[in-house]
Amino acid sequence: MTRFENALEAGIVGGRLWFYSNYHCNLACVYCLTESSPAARRRLFDRGSMLRLAEQALAKGFTSFGVTGGEPFLRPDIVDVLLDLAALRPVLVLSNATVFRGRVLDEMKRLVGRPVTIQMSLDGATPDHNDEMRGPENFARVIEAIPHLVEMGIPVRIATTGEERDPADAAALCALHRSFGISDEHHILRPIVNRGRAATNGLGVFATAADLPPELTLTVDGAFWSPFGPTVQNGRLDLDLLLTRTTNPLDVPLDAMLRVAGCRPSGSESRLTIR
Ligand code: SF4
Repeated sequence: MTRFENALEAGIVGGRLWFYSNYHCNLACVYCLTESSPAARRRLFDRGSMLRLAEQALAKGFTSFGVTGGEPFLRPDIVDVLLDLAALRPVLVLSNATVFRGRVLDEMKRLVGRPVTIQMSLDGATPDHNDEMRGPENFARVIEAIPHLVEMGIPVRIATTGEERDPADAAALCALHRSFGISDEHHILRPIVNRGRAATNGLGVFATAADLPPELTLTVDGAFWSPFGPTVQNGRLDLDLLLTRTTNPLDVPLDAMLRVAGCRPSGSESRLTIR
């Protein structure tokens, strides 16, 4: 067994390797961790580099991949990226689900039957609260997209981000996702984390490395402790959860993560996950 596999078996680290594929987005949500927007710098992780790192991750014993951003589906080559990764291990890709139309939807047919799950954001059972956080017409676009993907047979999960939840809205949201054939097991609730634009807007819970499970996260700017690490505030990348600037060879950030994770007191419990 590799050192990573031993740590994984001991529950010290997570088995998923995350990639930030890009930082730009067609939305500008009020709690966005990365200050993404149409005007944000793209900071694209190129396809070849991701594949080379994924191949190294396979040899180390990583069990799955995650892709997030920004909005990954703004990349013209995203389906190829996902297929590259899915040929090695199952992939979870996070999306705002607002670009699943026309050419993008057509391209997505290539994902059918491949181990790629799409996690879409939806924060309420009605447009009111959802669109306040995520922008006008967002609710309508997501509700339009879900049945397309379900009918195509692409696995879909719903992620709801929020603070206090109105019990009536929570129940209605569960009824809504069940009506699309998405089971409770595939509905994820997660808190707003006080980083990025959420911090600027005074939203969310504080999180330190101790609150975040170690899941190696790679970006064009370096490797981070968790997918909550490479956040951006006031245009600057947060460095508090940076492991190494080097991402290739993967040994460099992986050794750093294992060193830090191995120093955590036994019984440490991480409470926040991005999914
Ligand atoms: S939270 Fe997601 S959908 Fe919203 S602006 Fe940020 S990257 Fe885009």
